[in-house]
Amino acid sequence: MKLIRSAIEKMEAYVPGFQPKEGEKFIKLNTNENPYPPSPRVLEAIRRGIGASLRLYPNPLADSLRDKIASLFKVPREWVIAGNGADEILNMAVRVTVGKNDKMLVTDPTYILYEVLANFQEAKVIKCPLNQNFDLPNQFPVEGAKMILMTNPNSPTGCPFDKKKLEAICRKAKGMVLIDEAYADFADENCMDFVKKFKNVIITRTLSKSFSLCGLRIGFAISNPEIIEAMMKVKDSYNMNRLSQLAGVAALQDLDWMRQGVRRIKRDREFLTQKLIKLEFKVLPSQANFIFVRHSQISALEIYKCLYEKRILVRHFNRPRLREYLRISIGVHQEMVKLVKVLEGILKGRDEK
Ligand code: PMP
Repeated sequence: MKLIRSAIEKMEAYVPGFQPKEGEKFIKLNTNENPYPPSPRVLEAIRRGIGASLRLYPNPLADSLRDKIASLFKVPREWVIAGNGADEILNMAVRVTVGKNDKMLVTDPTYILYEVLANFQEAKVIKCPLNQNFDLPNQFPVEGAKMILMTNPNSPTGCPFDKKKLEAICRKAKGMVLIDEAYADFADENCMDFVKKFKNVIITRTLSKSFSLCGLRIGFAISNPEIIEAMMKVKDSYNMNRLSQLAGVAALQDLDWMRQGVRRIKRDREFLTQKLIKLEFKVLPSQANFIFVRHSQISALEIYKCLYEKRILVRHFNRPRLREYLRISIGVHQEMVKLVKVLEGILKGRDEK
């Protein structure tokens, strides 16, 4: 008998961005990590949490963290679920919504994980190509979709979608609509108000990016209580460890720290954008902590390799439509200055050949 389900055998695994070994010296601009450290309050909370109580299971529902999230977004606790990173939250949402042959509608491009999660369920993925500007097309084929998954601002482009268009999609859709707001803290607008307007909408967030906590794996969703209750059924019993729960509360108690980092990142996003435009890059308008760029003459892969040789890591997606672009996470100012200098050298070197 075959041990592995054929759906799993056939599917491609999600491949995360390259993580160099500890101690390898890279300027790391490939996985949208925040270059600033987390709030000192987070570190203090973890230090306080290290002790004999680790022998005990954590609160299974992460209630203190859910209460903190609920009070920030002015919803009851029953509207909130917390998880081991937004990725786990996405996984739960997909598992409660789509089964075999159900239609999952996603934009193309989008966060690659959605397709992987659909494949676990043997759902059918319908990819709706974004228009030339990587914006939503006027006709978004919501009919028959059991679930629609969108990232806003989108990844890997960084471009925001028009909120009115998103609202129209939520209104028209009969199935579940999940808006993944992993990068919303870097954007001018978000769609959190949709959860109160529409019964079929889930908004997901993460503390990985704006709160600098990739390493702890803290994500959450807000939606109406029936959907949250269903997601609770499929989650692991103790899906958030004790330290993450404490750290999550502490991070959300220090919004000033998060906002200060976000302000710096936005400033450097603008700095890098302007410098790259001068170097003849096309830079898509980003509302995230990364930019998506292509050069007018040199292939993205060639630039990727040259940067790699200079120990600068960026992200290249070898997929149609994306392979001409590089995604560059915003680092600290000095890293952005160094990147521009290295790119100038690469372009100059080519001119001289
Ligand atoms: N959604 C999007 C669009 C992302 O880019 C990421 C990060 N790769 C996630 C969700 C997952 O975030 P987390 O670290 O909380 O799992």
